[in-house]
Amino acid sequence: MIFLHKPYIEKKNKKSRLIFEIDIDEEKKKVWYEVDSEYEKYLCDDRVDAILVGMLHYALVHGHNIQSDSYVTDEILYKIKTFLLPSIVKYAKSMKMIDISIKTKPAVEGAEGIGTGCSGGIDSLYTIIVNKDLEEKQFRLTHLCINNVGSFNSCYKEKSLEEVREFVIEKAKKIAKETGLPLIVTDSNFHEEIPQSHYHTSTYSSVFAILCMQKLWKIYYYGSSGLDYSKFSIIDNDEYACSHYELLSLDCYSTKNLKIYSDGGAVTRFEKLQRIYQEPLVKKYAHTCTVKMQNCNHCPKCKGLLLAFYALADNMDPYKEILDVDYFLEHKLEYFQWLYEEHRYGKVGMYDPVYEALLKREDFKKFIDQKKQEETDEEYNYFEEEYNKIANSKAFKVGSVLLYIPQKIKKWITKK
Ligand SMILES: [Zn+2]
Repeated sequence: MIFLHKPYIEKKNKKSRLIFEIDIDEEKKKVWYEVDSEYEKYLCDDRVDAILVGMLHYALVHGHNIQSDSYVTDEILYKIKTFLLPSIVKYAKSMKMIDISIKTKPAVEGAEGIGTGCSGGIDSLYTIIVNKDLEEKQFRLTHLCINNVGSFNSCYKEKSLEEVREFVIEKAKKIAKETGLPLIVTDSNFHEEIPQSHYHTSTYSSVFAILCMQKLWKIYYYGSSGLDYSKFSIIDNDEYACSHYELLSLDCYSTKNLKIYSDGGAVTRFEKLQRIYQEPLVKKYAHTCTVKMQNCNHCPKCKGLLLAFYALADNMDPYKEILDVDYFLEHKLEYFQWLYEEHRYGKVGMYDPVYEALLKREDFKKFIDQKKQEETDEEYNYFEEEYNKIANSKAFKVGSVLLYIPQKIKKWITKK
């Protein structure tokens, strides 16, 4: 069983911590979430919504029921029990149905803030650019956020977690300054205290951070993982990233006073770039690399970004601050070759929109035409060789008459 004790706040050196003590059977855990003390008034210590969502995946995988001596927001508990759990448990081999027994109270009232994360990634920049100057004032961004709930762990192995965090914060400060929005930097030991696969639990830990500050947010744009809504699925959900069922889960964690949107899912990553590639924020800060703090130019994500800019922009010079454009232009054919192979053999089709867009550029079109010709020649040689093997073997013949030709080769002869 998991028991969630009533949360409390501790203040130290101008920082305020919301503290959750948790018993997992006999084991005691202490998870904290920290903000500058000026934001202390927004920390939600009268209910366990945040830690309930944070621990939910863990509880489902380990089969722990959940209880508490605090409260949970009635709508959140209702939606988790009625919609989320029955759906995802049914379609996951590794999850067990659990019971959650916590007293309820109505949703937090009076929150005014509209926030989103500020990592400098394409999804994040898109969400910021699109929502910062919205005509509809009631949806316009008011705050940017950097939450440390585990996403820094999975990247940039050559640097320490602290270095990565500092780097991301420095960049976020610059983005915040340029957009004129306040930046809230938070910290937490959640991912150290409750180690989990980021891939399977990123939504859960991100929502943990959002709900800790539930008294601030009336809207939170959760910049999703580059998947558009067509990729929604709960089938075999324990084998895929939890972002696949965000459309369902984020709604279950929302209340009548706080809406968490899966932002950007109406468009693919390439469509996002199409919308924002000329924006100064993109030219200065876009970061896509999963290997290095500066874009490395060589990992699949960096290659995809370079090729996308090449497809979209007539002039690559504006991207010199974030990518090694000269190297790319000198080695263009190697990048073309990579995209051609991704398109032909890749399973996910992640870069297909870039491929399609690039076909409008003459040099890429010529490269692909040549590849197609090579494919045809290759196919011709293969079938000719196979045909000759059969024609020259006695096994398929009576006298000079061929008795058997495989279907595939028959088709090739007809085509020829
Ligand atoms: Zn890279």
